Amino acid sequence: MHPDTWLISKGRPTESGDPLNVAPVMASSFRLPGDRYYNRIEGTDTQVAFEDLLGGLEGGRALAFASGMAAVTNVFSLLPVGATVVMNDHPYHATGMIADAGAEQGRWTVERLDPANTDAWIEACSRADLVWVETPANPLLTVADLPAICAAPRKDGCLVAVDGTFATPLVQRPLELGADISMHSATKYIGGHSDLMAGLLTVVDDVLYDRLYEARLLNGATIGGLEAFLATRGARTLALRLERAMANAGELATRLEASEHIVKVRYPGLESHDTYENAKKFMNGFGAMISFEVEGTAERATAVVEHSTIIKHATSLGGIESTWERRAAIAGQEDMPPTLIRISVGCEHVDDLWSDISEALDATA
Ligand SMILES: *Cc1c(COP(=O)(O)O)cnc(C)c1O
Repeated sequence: MHPDTWLISKGRPTESGDPLNVAPVMASSFRLPGDRYYNRIEGTDTQVAFEDLLGGLEGGRALAFASGMAAVTNVFSLLPVGATVVMNDHPYHATGMIADAGAEQGRWTVERLDPANTDAWIEACSRADLVWVETPANPLLTVADLPAICAAPRKDGCLVAVDGTFATPLVQRPLELGADISMHSATKYIGGHSDLMAGLLTVVDDVLYDRLYEARLLNGATIGGLEAFLATRGARTLALRLERAMANAGELATRLEASEHIVKVRYPGLESHDTYENAKKFMNGFGAMISFEVEGTAERATAVVEHSTIIKHATSLGGIESTWERRAAIAGQEDMPPTLIRISVGCEHVDDLWSDISEALDATA
């Protein structure tokens, strides 16, 4: 079955007379005796439907979480004391903070690598306990050579986890390349409407699944019934939304690159992108995130993002609506190029998006 059909047809009740959609089950406890005891332990039908839908999509079994960060924390909670963690030099900020906090407490050591430096990642797999690859990476959109990293010889017990939030399970398939864990902030594209928080870990190995399941019920990072319902509903249209958003992003990246107001455009689908060759190798499309540096000062870049009307000035990404922000204005991102704007391209008409962008650029020139 094609992934787009899977997303629409799976995760539904199967008995005659059942509703087409699993309803949002809002329950902490269940009547005994029965299969379910307590929500944090066994979850709900709504949660399981969401997990079946997204797990099967990637060819594994998924665990849903209260947020992307709850999923990240769950993985780090498996690490033995003294572990070596290898991760991106500029990971998603909160992921980097978790790694740094554990290192400060002496729980593990952390090494940061440029996602483009494939040789360094391959070498690290032979001695790391956790290889955490975020690709495409935030916010420079560097694409790691996932097939090479996932195939590298590993230290015994080394887990390779891929944060593929920017790509979605439709654009890259880390588990098929040999990764142990595919992680997503479902808050973003999977939910798709900026109205919920959710996270996912998908794995193939049953022992690893059980360890993560046990960790989740102890960490208490379970997803709410309403969130699981909304995330499932959002995921139904993921392929459609992404198709439009990626087409828009490809077009906008080309127009931005030709604009006199722009110094540099970063989009994995542009031949000028530093890791275009990696992206072309294994990605199915190039995602819908673009970063670009505006000519001039940080003040101008701020004025640009505040000028738009269609594109909303907001953080986060993956919604049906386009959003943008100046990245260096955000806590923890001060080392980013001062005029770098990151846009999450949504599903509006591309010409309206372009008018909004060009008006903002012209008005601030
Ligand atoms: C948003 C995000 C996270 C964290 O997810 P939340 O749902 O906000 O907790 C992790 N990684 C990446 C790449 C993200 O964009």
